[in-house]
Amino acid sequence: MTKPPDEFRDTKTALVLGGGLAGIAVALRLTAAGVRVTVIEARNRLGGRATSFTDPATGRTLDNCQHVLMGCCTSLVDLYRRLGVADSIKWHRTLYFMDGRGRLDQLEADDWPAPLHMTPALLKFRGLSLREKLDLTRGMLAIIRMGKAGRDAMPDITFEQWLIGQRQSRGTIDKFWSVIITSALNELPTHCSAKYAIQVFQEGFLANEQAYVMGVPAVPLVQLYDRAGQAIEANGGRVMVSTSAQRFELTDDSVSALIADGQTLSADAYVSALPFDRLARLCEAPMVDADPRLQQLQRFETSPILGIHLYYRSTNGQPVMKLPHLVLTQSPLQWVFNKGRGDESGSQHLHGVISAAHGLAAWPSQEIITLTDREMRKAFSHLPDTPPLDGIRLVDAMVVKEKRATFSITPGLDDARPRATGAISNLYLAGDWCDTGWPATMEGAVRSGNAATMAVLDDLGVAPLANRVHPGGRGLEPSWLYQALAEKRT
Ligand SMILES: Cc1cc2nc3c(=O)[nH]c(=O)nc-3n(C[C@H](O)[C@H](O)[C@H](O)COP(=O)(O)OP(=O)(O)OC[C@H]3O[C@@H](n4cnc5c(N)ncnc54)[C@H](O)[C@@H]3O)c2cc1C
Repeated sequence: MTKPPDEFRDTKTALVLGGGLAGIAVALRLTAAGVRVTVIEARNRLGGRATSFTDPATGRTLDNCQHVLMGCCTSLVDLYRRLGVADSIKWHRTLYFMDGRGRLDQLEADDWPAPLHMTPALLKFRGLSLREKLDLTRGMLAIIRMGKAGRDAMPDITFEQWLIGQRQSRGTIDKFWSVIITSALNELPTHCSAKYAIQVFQEGFLANEQAYVMGVPAVPLVQLYDRAGQAIEANGGRVMVSTSAQRFELTDDSVSALIADGQTLSADAYVSALPFDRLARLCEAPMVDADPRLQQLQRFETSPILGIHLYYRSTNGQPVMKLPHLVLTQSPLQWVFNKGRGDESGSQHLHGVISAAHGLAAWPSQEIITLTDREMRKAFSHLPDTPPLDGIRLVDAMVVKEKRATFSITPGLDDARPRATGAISNLYLAGDWCDTGWPATMEGAVRSGNAATMAVLDDLGVAPLANRVHPGGRGLEPSWLYQALAEKRT
């Protein structure tokens, strides 16, 4: 960690509300710039939605849900480097897919320049017919050619509407576009903004050969973020966990205090890194009247994610799944992650994920487990080197329902996503739901934190050059071919 410059120490203070990724990003950079920061976090640890919890029944440390990143998540990777945990991310260049008939496909980049790097793998893709591949090629070309300007010009239509306008067949939509987008945006093509779906393909797959590579933490998520508290405190900050912010006090056009667990806390800058609904609870009517950013909070809707932890044992002692992960393109169960050894008895831990689970989230957990186990067994029956099905026993299972997992990235929502600064001059907003140009992701959360930090440093006049950073970090450079095809409109 960078040592705070002495000349800035003890000069300015900031309160950071919320210790998720956005709050961590803010606190790390502000303390590094010499601002005296106090982080207020309601839970007993940092990391927010992206961390782990202890299952009271078994004592196991379980991830809230598998969290994955992609090569294009450059700000998040930069944060992991600064926390010293970048080596805990395992990068996967091969992505495994299985269709409804049990055909296994691999998506892996070739040596060709982007956007052609996936072409050989897609040509071999058995889960799509020739006609579907031609559809896909047409759709991808349209996405490349429109550039960033093209996607920015369509914030008000759904991705499904755009796909239909591009004459994409039902099969291509269901077996490809929807599979990628439902996981990436945690929303269905029928509900999500075309702009952000197209961004996923432009920036996550087409522009750069490394962008699609998937990073999966090789350690429980908690191990990534426990370091953050130590780093903030090592820089002179203070982290108050198990402490809830209750309300702001407003004087004229600025915040004058924050009430947290009965204490009154004051600072030069107040950074909310809370989810939109938690922030709404802290703002009384005069505050909402004073700042248009706070008048939009009711417009956000949420979308659920189900994480299903399954523990399997086979009679011959072999693992039930050897692949590191599997995408099921025609199943209600969308992703399966291989978490390795489950417990001392030799069981294997598999983690199933169902994004945008609008209907399923209301099901009883036992029914979700039954459904997941059935879909898993179908997949096992087609996987190479899997023990005989009648020798595979589900020995334990648990469902984690995140009914309000992320905000829903619906068309037209851009108007409601606030910038870091606004009418209340010392209140800065961060969080994945802010105006980041990204969907609800860890990368978006870190970008929002970086943007809020820069605004605080500017306003407080504390801006050592070494700590200035573009909210999006370095970013990945689009390939020469992508730039040429996009007609310089990126
Ligand atoms: C099940 C699930 C799966 C996901 N999978 C992925 C994935 O694979 N890849 C990806 O990029 N993203 C994923 N996400 C999204 C990602 O977790 C979020 O976008 C990101 O963590 C948001 O960070 P944040 O800091 O904006 O908000 P949060 O993480 O919500 O942080 C806000 C913090 O504020 C605290 N807080 C709330 N109220 C108060 C209060 N009154 N006082 C003090 N503190 C308070 C909360 O406890 C929390 O720690 C997933 C999310 C979920 C729920």
